[in-house]
Amino acid sequence: MRIFDPHIHMTSRTTDDYERMAAAGVRALVEPAFWLGQPRTSVASFTDYFDSLVGWEPFRAGQFGIRHHATIALNPKEANDPRCAGVLDVLPRYLEKDGVVAVGEIGYDSMTAEEDHAFAAQLALAIEHELPALVHTPHRDKARGTERTIKVVAESGIEPGRVVVDHLNEVTVAAVKDSGSWAGFSIYPDTKMSPPRMVEILKQFGTERVLVNSAADWGKSDPLLTRETADLMLASGFSDDDVDLVFWRNPVAFYGQSGKLDLDDIAPGASFEGNSILRGGS
Ligand SMILES: [Zn+2]
Repeated sequence: MRIFDPHIHMTSRTTDDYERMAAAGVRALVEPAFWLGQPRTSVASFTDYFDSLVGWEPFRAGQFGIRHHATIALNPKEANDPRCAGVLDVLPRYLEKDGVVAVGEIGYDSMTAEEDHAFAAQLALAIEHELPALVHTPHRDKARGTERTIKVVAESGIEPGRVVVDHLNEVTVAAVKDSGSWAGFSIYPDTKMSPPRMVEILKQFGTERVLVNSAADWGKSDPLLTRETADLMLASGFSDDDVDLVFWRNPVAFYGQSGKLDLDDIAPGASFEGNSILRGGS
């Protein structure tokens, strides 16, 4: 089984995670720029982070045979801090870099006027730089946040098929699918989506234009929940081809729209077992 995790924050994870992910079949991932927990107080703090997302972290992933790509943006939460407003001005030079396959995570946290501004400005950047966009939906008031997100995406003029609206659930999936955007789901250990709930959604809404991720970060999360969901799909009657579509071909199709996805030399169907994982990266 080959797995592409389309949303995972490896900066917050250890080398043990990379090793276990490789052993589970994860061979590619996308790491979106996000809120690091500790508030940043200057633009330079962001540029150091962005540099790490396009430099250091791909190197670290490569040691485990995992291909690393990034999305770059001013995240919704920090869009509210006036000290971070200048981040919007440095984004263009990052969006042109190799390995940057989308603008993200953008969208809403508390749905403020500042967030409206940053969201619209960054959708415009996605159009200008011909990149897809990864949109985060708020964890509080998700239904209203998702509704407003769909509206802002439509107003921006970006082609809906170049947008993934992420962190969806049973309540928000239908509206996003109807809008023509991709539906993203983050599988968590305790709260929000679980593997059984995800499998039910796939049964009901199908496997097209769906991205399933672990969204693992500095909170309680599990980078192997992609594999666990894939195993549960198989146990629930989905075929190997269905699993390959959801966990490989869909993320490749979505981020491939950037024209910058580099998956050369990742052999399709090759098995990454035991020590061969580590050798595969060298
Ligand atoms: Zn995230």
